[in-house]
Amino acid sequence: MEQDTISAISTPIGEGAIAIVRLSGEEAFSIANRVFKGKDLTNVDSHTIHYGNIIDPNTDELIEEVMITVMKGPKTFTREDIIEINCHGGMVSVNRVLQLILREGARLAEPGEFTKRAFLNGRIDLSQAEAVMDLIRAKTDRAMNVAMKQMDGRLSELIRKLRQELIETVAHVEVNIDYPEYDDVEEMTHDVLIEKASYVKKEVHKILQTAKQGKILREGIATAIIGRPNVGKSSLLNKLAHENKAIVTEIPGTTRDVIEEYVNVRGVPLRLIDTAGIRETEDIVEKIGVDRSRQALKEADLILLVLNGNEEFTKEDAALFEAAAGMDVIVIVNKTDLDQKIDMEAVNQAANGAPVITTSLLQEQGIDELEEAIANTFFDGELDSADLTYVSNVRHIQLLEQAESALTDALNGIEAGMPLDLVQIDITRTWELLGEIIGDNVHESLIDQLFSQFCLGK
Ligand code: GDP
Ligand code: ZN
Repeated sequence: MEQDTISAISTPIGEGAIAIVRLSGEEAFSIANRVFKGKDLTNVDSHTIHYGNIIDPNTDELIEEVMITVMKGPKTFTREDIIEINCHGGMVSVNRVLQLILREGARLAEPGEFTKRAFLNGRIDLSQAEAVMDLIRAKTDRAMNVAMKQMDGRLSELIRKLRQELIETVAHVEVNIDYPEYDDVEEMTHDVLIEKASYVKKEVHKILQTAKQGKILREGIATAIIGRPNVGKSSLLNKLAHENKAIVTEIPGTTRDVIEEYVNVRGVPLRLIDTAGIRETEDIVEKIGVDRSRQALKEADLILLVLNGNEEFTKEDAALFEAAAGMDVIVIVNKTDLDQKIDMEAVNQAANGAPVITTSLLQEQGIDELEEAIANTFFDGELDSADLTYVSNVRHIQLLEQAESALTDALNGIEAGMPLDLVQIDITRTWELLGEIIGDNVHESLIDQLFSQFCLGK
């Protein structure tokens, strides 16, 4: 572990009051010791906390009053020596502490570098490392919980279990090929192969099904509010944003300065798209009206289609339903406080099974029902079940999809009576693909596993 010592401000999630400057590496203790007045940090027990002052050794100036945590590797997150300096005095003094640490020889950590070290030093596997990243980007508590679960290794555990199944299958097939004269290994009939491969395929499929929810939790449900002018789109947007604490994010690296708005509806993050369009003055909206709605439709995961209950159901309304056909739609019949002129039968028919919610945004009626419909559309009320393992990482999803298709190939091969060594190639491929999720060194461990798993001299 001959890595330089890195440092950065790493404030714990959910605890805004204190800020932590973290150091990791061979010189963590000696660098901290040079700026700490209180105790000799190179000479204290591991995993202890010490009170004292940070001073500039060049000027003897007091920088900050701190608590320092001393943790000796390898029982640390990075497996290196770690120092955590807990500061209380706000961002300015925290920054001064960091500057001092850097001046004394630490290097500013790159984003994710502590986690990268944890992975490189074998403390966590790849999927856990990626979960740490997801955690940092999580936009709601629920998204955070999913990342947390993945970080404590639930996905890894599941993947390991499936790989175990596959490796045993491969081992049996291998023996069958190499030692056809052994009667007891002949048990590996096509039927057993089919059973194992089908089982793993089913499990992989289940994990993939959670991917949709995972993506949503991390990136938000791309939501478009559409409807004719004056039906209440802006009012709905404002209501959702107001009640649910909108988070406005600027996305760097885009040519236009796109601003996306997130609202958190019962733990489900909605990413409202084209809200700028909705907020433009009414005459512009009127001018572009339905055309603009159609454009927003293309990018959306969820459509909130707003109708005016105080008016007839128009041809334009019907056109919007047609444009949204096949997508997740929630119909909102607004302005229930006024005379209801809309033909609800026509609305329900157009909705074609999609939920229809009646609201008065003006009088704040029906908002609860709407929020419930939004949550249900994506999670069918199942989200709270504690043991769902969500996959939210694009790389993981791709690998799982490839694994599923390799298993399909294997199963087709078996059915078609292909020789076992050819089927085995697909099974091994699946094993490797799943291994890439947790970052295993594939080929060597395959060999190791084979021998440790299956002992002919039993
Ligand atoms: P948009 O053009 O679809 O964005 O519609 P707005 O949200 O700008 O609303 C148009 C007008 O309808 C505004 O004057 C709103 O105050 C009004 N409005 C919105 N919702 C309701 C409602 O539930 N009841 C009544 N009576 N008026 C509403
Ligand atoms: Zn408007």
